[in-house]
Amino acid sequence: MTLITNHLPTAELQALDAAHHLHPFTNGAELETKGARVITRAKGVTLTDSDGNNYLDAMAGLWCVNIGYGRDEPAEAAARQMRELPFYNTFFQTTHVPAIALAARLAELAPGDLNHVFFAGSGSEANDTNIRMVRTYWAQKGQPEKNIIISRKNAYHGSSMGSGSLGGMTFMHEQGGLPIPNIHHIDQPHWWSEGGDTSPEDFGLERARQLEQAIEDLGADRVAAFIAEPIQGAGGVVVPPATYWPEIQRICDEHGILLIADEVICGFGRTGSWFGSTTLDIRPHIMTVAKGLSSGYAPIGGSIVCDEVAEVINNCEFAHGYTYSGHPMACAVALENLRILDEEGIVDRVAQHSGPYLQQKWHGLVEHPLVGEAPIVGMMGSIALTPDAATRAKFAGNEGDVGLICREHCFQNGLVMRHVGDRMIISPPLVITDAEIDTLVERAWTALDLTHAQLK
Ligand code: PLP
Repeated sequence: MTLITNHLPTAELQALDAAHHLHPFTNGAELETKGARVITRAKGVTLTDSDGNNYLDAMAGLWCVNIGYGRDEPAEAAARQMRELPFYNTFFQTTHVPAIALAARLAELAPGDLNHVFFAGSGSEANDTNIRMVRTYWAQKGQPEKNIIISRKNAYHGSSMGSGSLGGMTFMHEQGGLPIPNIHHIDQPHWWSEGGDTSPEDFGLERARQLEQAIEDLGADRVAAFIAEPIQGAGGVVVPPATYWPEIQRICDEHGILLIADEVICGFGRTGSWFGSTTLDIRPHIMTVAKGLSSGYAPIGGSIVCDEVAEVINNCEFAHGYTYSGHPMACAVALENLRILDEEGIVDRVAQHSGPYLQQKWHGLVEHPLVGEAPIVGMMGSIALTPDAATRAKFAGNEGDVGLICREHCFQNGLVMRHVGDRMIISPPLVITDAEIDTLVERAWTALDLTHAQLK
């Protein structure tokens, strides 16, 4: 058997990878011809690949490494916990200290009466939990037919059968028989690309009122819940008009619909407070969490649930759970991550210093001839690439071609920035310094210049 280590030449690692490793969201043919980028180390905000190239990771991995790479404390917490109790389950009236401590800490951090946590191994699993939980909630209350969940087109809530169905990405629905029954999608509040001549304020109200229309069409006695991210992440960092969320909240309240805020990206400091719901003044009944919960140092997710829903669910035996629900090592790592975020003032710093600094620099990108808008909240931002900002025009050719060119120039210039269609997006580690923010924006500008030159 070949000993596979960091010391093998890149080409050999890539060939083995292409031969044996099936990747998520990757074109297999391209993997064969171009090979995967092999990341070998990371520290702070910087990734290093197998050829020794460094990249400023403006995506915090997959929107998750909030405390930055290379911290010893989570590793030590994991090792301590694995020595003491590497695994025990939380099924059948059993518990352990890391799960108790993490649930209690999340109840402290979460707004309102979100005091109860159902653990999962990921955001997808947590959203699957939510589907079953809200349907069980209404069934327990004698309304089993109240089982439709309304979500939004272009939303991303995970890629399992349930969470992928909640998501509104049609290219995902085309594979594997999604969506499951009784999931309904309304339009997203994406003013830049879909707002036409309507003002952002009116557009926000219009899109929110699609929820009310859907409830009326489907029947309030059939609709269990509405799920949305406070700010859509994978959809392209879509910051909704200010009118959107207050109207959604009113509609959910008036029609007795449970509100699920998917905080998988927005949670744990990303928007400048512990949760996007706090930043945008949303009062959800359930929040989905993952990613920044452990800063990606361990796989863990969960649903944080309000008193009323938890009480009803606790009246029955909820026949649901994962072997790794409340995994002791993952809980210990998450607790350590929350301690770091809190004690080092990282969340406050995003609100008061580094967030505003990044926002000011990011907004400056609208001066570039390729950029139409540069929305950003806390440390999640995007830029819309356009041939004409005044008319919010799209490029000729396939949507996403220009974004892809820009992403490649970013890589060539030591910056990891993702593209969603022709939008470039960032979500850097929250510990990014001012000097690193300067570098991020300079490299983004260079990549835009090179993209612009290539289009001429
Ligand atoms: N919800 C949102 C908003 C996400 O962005 C993601 C992942 O990107 C998920 C859920 C799914 O989380 P996971 O990949 O941990 O299953």
